Amino acid sequence: MKIVMLGAPGAGKGTQAKRIAEKFNIPHVSTGDIFRANIKNGTALGKEAKEYMDQGKLVPDELTVRILLDRVAQEDCKNGYVLDGFPRTIPQAEVLDSELAKLGTGVDYAINVEVPDDDIIGRMSGRRACLKCGATYHLSFLPSKKEGICDNCGSELVLRDDDKPETVKKRLDVYHEQTQPLIDFYNNKGVLKEVDGTVAPDDVFKAIEEILK
Ligand SMILES: [Zn+2]
Repeated sequence: MKIVMLGAPGAGKGTQAKRIAEKFNIPHVSTGDIFRANIKNGTALGKEAKEYMDQGKLVPDELTVRILLDRVAQEDCKNGYVLDGFPRTIPQAEVLDSELAKLGTGVDYAINVEVPDDDIIGRMSGRRACLKCGATYHLSFLPSKKEGICDNCGSELVLRDDDKPETVKKRLDVYHEQTQPLIDFYNNKGVLKEVDGTVAPDDVFKAIEEILK
């Protein structure tokens, strides 16, 4: 079972990807994780990626695709996997498709976790972070014991720049421009499944289970 997770940053697709992986016993392949693993293990691909990152440049599509294909070619992926953070663009999706086609297979499900932009902006603006110890909180979902103060170290909590509405809005605009076309791409292939991401995470997962069983 090969699954691609789609959804805006902050829609909770990473959480759902992890749960799918556990439930169906297939690896959760997150691009961020495999980049870090390759770099940590000093692989040839990792060294190549690190050169770009050290220069503050984006890792090119072509290299991202090679790193991803290397990962899904491993033994533990033979029964399938959940891709999280890949593909991000149509060219990446096309390469994935043609590589899978060479193996006589393809993506089985593209699950889009749908959350309206305003909801995401609202969720993010409730986040609070401790810049001293790195602890994170949420005003509604995970409040600190004392408002505005870190439970761990007693420092003042802040709303990070990354979580501010104007920053989140910009990120969502990029998402819609770049990733939204993927929704049409997978829809045309007949593998797109949409789930409502505004409900509780447990209920989102129930809807996904219904699709996958
Ligand atoms: Zn702290």
